[in-house]
Amino acid sequence: MKYDYLVVGAGLYGSVFAHEAKKAGKTVLVIDKRQNIAGNVYTEDVEKIHVHKYGAHIFHTNNKVVWDYINQFADFNRFTNSPVANYKGELYSLPFNMYTFNKMWGVVTPQEAQEKIEQQKREAGITEPKNLEEQAISLVGKDIYEKLIKGYTEKQWGRKCEDLPAFIIKRLPVRLTFDNNYFNALYQGIPIGGYTKMVENMLEGIEVRLNVNYLDNKEEYDALADKIVYTGAIDEYFEYKLGCLEYRSVRFETEVLDIDNFQGNVAVNYTDAETPWTRIIEHKWFEFGKDDEGNDIPKTVISREYSSEWNLGDEPYYPVNDEKNGELYKKYKELSMQEDHVIFGGRLGEYKYYDMDAVIASALSMCKEELKG
Ligand code: UDP
Repeated sequence: MKYDYLVVGAGLYGSVFAHEAKKAGKTVLVIDKRQNIAGNVYTEDVEKIHVHKYGAHIFHTNNKVVWDYINQFADFNRFTNSPVANYKGELYSLPFNMYTFNKMWGVVTPQEAQEKIEQQKREAGITEPKNLEEQAISLVGKDIYEKLIKGYTEKQWGRKCEDLPAFIIKRLPVRLTFDNNYFNALYQGIPIGGYTKMVENMLEGIEVRLNVNYLDNKEEYDALADKIVYTGAIDEYFEYKLGCLEYRSVRFETEVLDIDNFQGNVAVNYTDAETPWTRIIEHKWFEFGKDDEGNDIPKTVISREYSSEWNLGDEPYYPVNDEKNGELYKKYKELSMQEDHVIFGGRLGEYKYYDMDAVIASALSMCKEELKG
């Protein structure tokens, strides 16, 4: 049987496409080299807790179309992300808000906080921020940069803040209010029942083959379909012939503890340079609030997260979207344009630091083009 589409990768991009293609009357086969669907949003049940096996994923978006779309496949809870920063035992509220400024400087009013930031910015003499360090100091001043940003960022990216692009830190809100919601998004939540269930619903009625490595048997798989939607790494597709794009990888040390509450929050970021992990995630708090029955679970599951440079064979997580990699990606992109039976999409296929909602938006816009008529 020849399919209309072969989708390589059962993550969000591939699953949205597969769902839409099937709806449009196309035949689709989805393959994935992992033993599970859902890509990096995969959640696994441990002690009735949905563990985010490939890192914390909190769905948040301002895009109503995307929000309505994803709500077809799951109900979302009212989870709001408010991480805590732990700097050598001092706890600070994140993102940067009045609680953070009060703890850092003792300031009480927004005016006082603003003045303190302005003063530190003046002292640093930055007019046009050229890199992450300058951008961060311009946004929140030197003290916060040094205690809450520098160590964490350099651990996470394995690069000096002076050598990182400014846009990365602009992901974080800075607020002169007591709102400690990490995201500036209208809609936010965690799919009840876990992300795996949500993706399962997207792929309902679609043939999925797991433990299958497309690139190992490319010709054989290419022959199965008229067109390929490829969501793996673009440089790997071309056998790294122009060189490797850089990624950051993440390693998780996950433990089940015989206590019901380890840190009282989903995320605690360790923002000093010495602690080897970047953050600890306590998975039960994604889904259970203090009044929920899940709070009775006598155990808890935590993951310490270690960031590292990606080497061949590791899982690629974060594209390093700096100038050098941007140039190389452009060249791969040109090569990919010549593969007219293949659509490259998703975080790895487009080498882009995508949030989940942006991946879905990108997949939906591709579907519109590809499946029209
Ligand atoms: N960041 C920081 N301190 C923190 C949390 C984040 O300096 O406690 C910086 C860091 O550079 C990070 C960026 O903000 O790469 C974006 O953080 P975000 O939480 O969006 O990263 P993600 O959740 O994608 O890992």
